[in-house]
Amino acid sequence: MKRLIFLLFPLFAMSLSAQPAIQYTMDFREPNSHLIDITMTIRNALPGTQQVALPAWRPGRYAIQNYSRLVQEVRAASETGLPLPIRKLNKDTWEISNGNVSAITVTYSFYATILDAGSTFYNDQEIYFNGSNLFMYVPGRLNEPVFLKINHPDGWQTATALKPAGPKSFTAASFHELADSPTIISPTLQHRKVTVDSINFHIWIQGETNGNPDALAEGIRKMARTHLDFWQGVVPFTDFHFLYHLVDYRSGHGVEHAKSTSMVLGPLTNLPDPDDWKRAYPTTSHELFHAWHVKYLVPADLEPYDYSKEQYTNLIWFLEGFTSYFDIYLNHKAGLITEAEYWEEFERLIRQSELNPGTAVTSIADASYDAWLYGYSSDGNKNRMVTFYSQGELFALLLDLDIRKETNHQKTLGDLMRWLVAEFPVKGRFYQESDLLNGLKLLTGKSYAPWFADYVHGTKPFPFQQAFDSAGYELIKVPADPVSRTLLGADFKRVDEDWVVDQVLPDSPAMKAGLFLGDKLSGSVFHPLPDKNLDAWLAGNLSDSTLTLEVKRRGKPVKLVLSGLNTTHYTYKIQKKTNHTSPW
Ligand SMILES: [Zn+2]
Repeated sequence: MKRLIFLLFPLFAMSLSAQPAIQYTMDFREPNSHLIDITMTIRNALPGTQQVALPAWRPGRYAIQNYSRLVQEVRAASETGLPLPIRKLNKDTWEISNGNVSAITVTYSFYATILDAGSTFYNDQEIYFNGSNLFMYVPGRLNEPVFLKINHPDGWQTATALKPAGPKSFTAASFHELADSPTIISPTLQHRKVTVDSINFHIWIQGETNGNPDALAEGIRKMARTHLDFWQGVVPFTDFHFLYHLVDYRSGHGVEHAKSTSMVLGPLTNLPDPDDWKRAYPTTSHELFHAWHVKYLVPADLEPYDYSKEQYTNLIWFLEGFTSYFDIYLNHKAGLITEAEYWEEFERLIRQSELNPGTAVTSIADASYDAWLYGYSSDGNKNRMVTFYSQGELFALLLDLDIRKETNHQKTLGDLMRWLVAEFPVKGRFYQESDLLNGLKLLTGKSYAPWFADYVHGTKPFPFQQAFDSAGYELIKVPADPVSRTLLGADFKRVDEDWVVDQVLPDSPAMKAGLFLGDKLSGSVFHPLPDKNLDAWLAGNLSDSTLTLEVKRRGKPVKLVLSGLNTTHYTYKIQKKTNHTSPW
């Protein structure tokens, strides 16, 4: 017995001393309260006062979220339970007056009712959290390892990229890793694993679906194969976790992380073919690509993350746009979508971009910088808005076409991505915009500085006709049905029973006639408004390129005559030239 104690003691002592100085424990109140109790212990606290803070935003979404609005009952105490004074320094930073107490406990509760790809949610069915929402950090100690104990109900399974450290316990190498590891814990998680090139891809499904998880796993096997082939042996993880929340409402978004992704997709409860997961593949591929581009290949602007305030970069067009470009490209390569479906995306995006007045006044660099202002919201001045996702994706296509032309189809945009990875993260470095230009010059011998001036920092229209033509493709105009935007230069949205003006394009017939945001269309006895397909109704009421509209403006009837309406409507078709043989 003595001998046994002698043997065990050093092991016990060792595990204690190896415990990180910053630890978190999660406890759960009655599920209908949706409250998660967090206990944070900090050893080696500063003498006098110690600050703690909650992130104001989460990496992956360049918008201030103010998670502290979801926190209540923040208290501080010594390790022995002696209460310590704590006060707020600003909206999400607290200061503890700890005097000479070096081991502090901070407790608070987090109200977890939001279910999206970057949120925290708790009820009787599951615990789901993103550490960036609910864990406070110690300013200046973000790179220390942390320990996490989750006192979840027995028998529930955990999906996470965090490293296990005993029952219901995990460690992370830093606060950044904790914040970057979304976790789902539930009694109903479904798990599949596929292994490609010794890399394990875990598929975790939470929520109801009639889809066949084995078919999803097979799709992901093909996708993973093409992603690994694309990066030619550089893989920044050994295990990757796809965390799916499948819902029965329309949703399709995900958030990237270094070794995982969290996605909320729907509706996937009533798939016509349980083996057909087409609806899940675009987001899945997008977030997997981000594990390299954004999480591994990181711009200097975003290193290290500063959770306390806006972190500006004018490269989001590159982060999101190029990821959007390659997510569909790699799904096409993996055989998960057809070539026709692949080109349809660009046919749609090119026309959409052409019809967006924002592209004439806002560059993709400025749209990136201003993500914090309006990047994800649809309000504000819509006529100046540019989506860095789709406009960045189109710029990627333009560049890819040009690189292929310049190198006689020997090089592609993929070579630029691989060069960047080899030059920067592989060498422990972070890149800047000028490095993209350096890479392009090396690849093609051509300076793309004028391109960046015109198309990245300027608002010159992307010359697609020319680009397709010289790369062996044709961009053809084909007739299309009129829509309100092409017909009169305005968008309408359905609000309750009304058609409401949502956007009026500059210099359009709608603007010239005085149509105003918020105007509600009025029908007449002869022309009652439709519940659906307003476009056809508008086109049907046209007489000699003139349209008379009656609207209600703040309750008062107003009659408007819109003249000079557009009568030619088209969209695009992309097709290979008949003599074109080079591979895409
Ligand atoms: Zn993205």
